Amino acid sequence: MDRETQSEAIHEAVEAMADRLAEEKEHLTDLDSAIGDADHGANMNRGFQAALERLEETDGDPAELVKTAGVALVSEVGGAAGPLYGGSLMKASQELEDGITAETTVAFAERYLETVEERGKASVGDKTMVDAITPAVHTYKKAVEVDDHDPLEALGKAVDAAERGVAFTTPIRAKKGRASYLGWRSVGHQDPGATSTLYLLEELLAVATEYLDGEVEVDAETEVDPEELEEPAVEEAAVDEENEEGA
Ligand SMILES: [Mg+2]
Repeated sequence: MDRETQSEAIHEAVEAMADRLAEEKEHLTDLDSAIGDADHGANMNRGFQAALERLEETDGDPAELVKTAGVALVSEVGGAAGPLYGGSLMKASQELEDGITAETTVAFAERYLETVEERGKASVGDKTMVDAITPAVHTYKKAVEVDDHDPLEALGKAVDAAERGVAFTTPIRAKKGRASYLGWRSVGHQDPGATSTLYLLEELLAVATEYLDGEVEVDAETEVDPEELEEPAVEEAAVDEENEEGA
């Protein structure tokens, strides 16, 4: 894909994400009203509509476009979520300066996760968006770097891993954010941030499939072998991240 096509794909991905969040606004609000302050659906919808508007007025390289979307999210989503969704996108966009390749997308994904963890001071098992992002990023990295899958196939596996991560948030107690104030009463509720993260990844996969199809048919629901995803080598990847990435 040339740079122009990559930029077009980013526009389209943000549009798909904005549409999806508009559709899921009520559902995200319901999830957030159970364990938070019932604003996640409205905040994400507003943020992505703003990102879409800004991108419609912007031409540029992939890195610039992703950064622009991040800036819009920071200013429009508000609260704790703005810096987590938008700031992490801004930071990770630096990894796309050479365009979109298997290598740069792995770096992007790792930088995104690292920034969310740092800013949210959250780890796996805290019942946050980190529980969706971590398995997705580790699975993506392993699929590309260890198993030599192409990025589209790897992304399909990553989305499936994120889905498992979202399911994992339901039976555990929240340790971060507003939900943690509920203590044990947070058990049994799915985390809204992990859920919206999954929606974003699903839309990214749908658009990536449009642009990269012909080589691989990816259906995250049916074609991923769960056996392969059981142990995403969490510790190893975390160590690599620290060694490879500066601030
Ligand atoms: Mg909230």
